Amino acid sequence: MAQPKKRDHPLARRQLYLNYGALTLATQLERSGRPSRLVHGGHETPEAVLDRLVDQGLLPSAFPVMLSMPSFYALGWTQAFCRLLRAFDPSGRIIIGGRWVTSPDPDWLGGLIPEADRIVPGLGESLIAGLIEDPMGVCLAAAPSGLPDFGLDHTLVEDFLAYQPSVETSRGCGMGCAFCEERDIPLSRLREPELLAAYMADAQTQYRAGPIRPYLQSSFFVPNPRWASRMREIVEAHGLAIPWRCETRVDAMKPETVEHLAAAGLKVIDLGLETASPTQIGAMNKSPNPDRYLRMASDLLLACRANGVWVKANVLLYGGETARTVDETRAWLDHHVSAIKGVSVGPVVVFGPPRSTAAFMTDLERLGARPVDSSSAATTGITQIHPSAEIDAVAAEAISLDLSRRYMDADAYFDLKAFSYYPRDYARPDFNADVIASPEDRLPFRLEPASRAEGQRLAAFPNPEPVL
Ligand code: SF4
Repeated sequence: MAQPKKRDHPLARRQLYLNYGALTLATQLERSGRPSRLVHGGHETPEAVLDRLVDQGLLPSAFPVMLSMPSFYALGWTQAFCRLLRAFDPSGRIIIGGRWVTSPDPDWLGGLIPEADRIVPGLGESLIAGLIEDPMGVCLAAAPSGLPDFGLDHTLVEDFLAYQPSVETSRGCGMGCAFCEERDIPLSRLREPELLAAYMADAQTQYRAGPIRPYLQSSFFVPNPRWASRMREIVEAHGLAIPWRCETRVDAMKPETVEHLAAAGLKVIDLGLETASPTQIGAMNKSPNPDRYLRMASDLLLACRANGVWVKANVLLYGGETARTVDETRAWLDHHVSAIKGVSVGPVVVFGPPRSTAAFMTDLERLGARPVDSSSAATTGITQIHPSAEIDAVAAEAISLDLSRRYMDADAYFDLKAFSYYPRDYARPDFNADVIASPEDRLPFRLEPASRAEGQRLAAFPNPEPVL
């Protein structure tokens, strides 16, 4: 990406995201006898990445360059890279994948990246071998793909030791949240604990027994107590001391499951709380029963706290947000603050070209939201939103920073980011230097210790009750 997606400053540029979807394809090719390499563009310039590939002898290539766009935020970078690549090697093939970006409207994307020979929608597992052999001949009708029957070969990633490993655990979700790409994609079966533990052990070997903190990749990680207990047994039997992280809803995991998972290595959980306002829970189609939703969220947070699992709660400022609904969320978070390690807060953003986002935009407008720039979907695939007449995009940014700083200091922020997203050798002194180099008013955490009043608030929550 040309710049980080939320705020651009030196600290934000430190984050590394392993493109585990692209690594799945690279691993698949390697296993079928086609040597592969995965190179991340990160925040380097397209010129620097191209020069590096040429210096390494990887370009020009008789094989197509497979470019994975994991986000619409990568569009500008990809356009610039493809222009350079085409000028460097006019006869080379460029194939672009990245299901979330390519699937909504491949023709629209092809118009924005005319240098691309093919835009591949959907999952690439059933297509990748054919695309290597015959880039222009292969039919792009992808067969449905379940979870692959192999773990990732992280050693195929350039400078792989800098990245934390990933283990894909399930796909899809289907829970219907109005803002989410996975709302209608059915949830696959969770991998069997035996296989998951074996893939984690493989990753440990790939990393030469050094410390790793894998992300168990699932949009909706929802093991039942029996699965969790089996995972715990296997981990304990094999002495797998690997702390890991996952992501799930707040209303789907039982406290006893958390206890087993914590014993199996769960250390950080990203929770899609999104809001604690009953009005907004309904507006997002998050749950038909807000009381139950918030009660289960309380139970889950309590279980995480009791088992030493760090909670990072995601909060979304949605269409129709008002000072009242923000207050409801803030009051709920205040009440549960001792179970929360950090929060990530931001306004709803609409991703996709006009053709695929018109209906969602209409829904948001019905709630009182409006686009900041109604022409941006066509040129970037990203539409920033004024959530309501009461809270515009500027106010939403101020609320986001205010809420983030309310619940997160520099220590908590570093702990959470260092667990998964900073280079593995990035240490606290590096972080401190980057904090100094970044404008304080753009940092999503507070630099001072909690004030006395906040300290008292933090000491509260002996027994969380729903506050609504
Ligand atoms: S539960 Fe999470 S992954 Fe599933 S539809 Fe809702 S936001 Fe998306």
